[in-house]
Amino acid sequence: MARPKPAAKAPKVRKTQLTHTVGDFEAAFWPDESPVDNALVMTMGALHEGHAALIRAARKEVGPEGRVAVTVFVNPLQFGPTEDLDRYPRSLAADVRLAEEHGADVVFAPLPEEVYPNGTPQVRLSAGPMGERFEGATRPGHFDGVLTVVAKMLHITDPDYAFFGEKDAQQLAVIQRMVADLDFDVEVIGVPTIRETDGLALSSRNQYLSETERAQALALSRALFAGRDVAAKGPAAVREAAAQVLAEADGVALDYLALIDPHDFVEAPDDFQGEAVLAVAAKVGSTRLIDNVRIQVR
Ligand code: AMP
Repeated sequence: MARPKPAAKAPKVRKTQLTHTVGDFEAAFWPDESPVDNALVMTMGALHEGHAALIRAARKEVGPEGRVAVTVFVNPLQFGPTEDLDRYPRSLAADVRLAEEHGADVVFAPLPEEVYPNGTPQVRLSAGPMGERFEGATRPGHFDGVLTVVAKMLHITDPDYAFFGEKDAQQLAVIQRMVADLDFDVEVIGVPTIRETDGLALSSRNQYLSETERAQALALSRALFAGRDVAAKGPAAVREAAAQVLAEADGVALDYLALIDPHDFVEAPDDFQGEAVLAVAAKVGSTRLIDNVRIQVR
């Protein structure tokens, strides 16, 4: 008689809990007093491989016993009156599946009334001058809205680590600055941008692009890579190479192209040396896209 085979060791199955209220979230994220590390990934949903990279990085940081929370919240405070708040893509069921696949324990997807029970907050954080340049110049109040909701989510979730994408370089910079300037007890970790194989940075807003616009949008990453290729020649050469690609691009309405000192988010001077962010923002059709690369100048 054949001996029964030992059962194969089952992989750890993690069931992600979906919560909508602060109370349910806290019960799911803090089920007991066990002292494990925990991490937060904040998103506006319509999750893709870029978000997945953040969730995986969070899981890796806290280990298999740690806890990872993903928030899915389209924050009205950070949208301007003419922006895409109402048409922002929403796909919660698929988001929970993706979050589960990549190692999240809890998804917190509150309604605005749960996050702002007293209505639009009267008191908000200010990103200061760092939040008024580049993205902030085109989107007044955007970073104040971002910081206000990030601060709230950090208070609700109280994580050891919070993960943000380098894709939103100015957002990452102002959050790092808020945490340092206001003594938030959390370590902010930036995660490199995930791209399609042809260079397009993944973004929930890519869904808005027609096939033709998607092809036109490739000029953004092409311009950034052209700048990166001449990084050894200094800031002027970087700007010129990137600008040249954009000048020849069809269907791209440039907002800004800038070489930026990532510490305080000011334009890098011509004698700048060190790590810089080459950033671009442009409209392709009616869709506003941003992208950037980190480069070592000279
Ligand atoms: P969002 O849902 O667009 O607010 O993005 C949530 C988080 O995911 C932010 O920290 C973004 O910077 C990050 N993120 C978005 N797209 C990417 C990407 N392509 N690669 C890496 N991180 C990303």
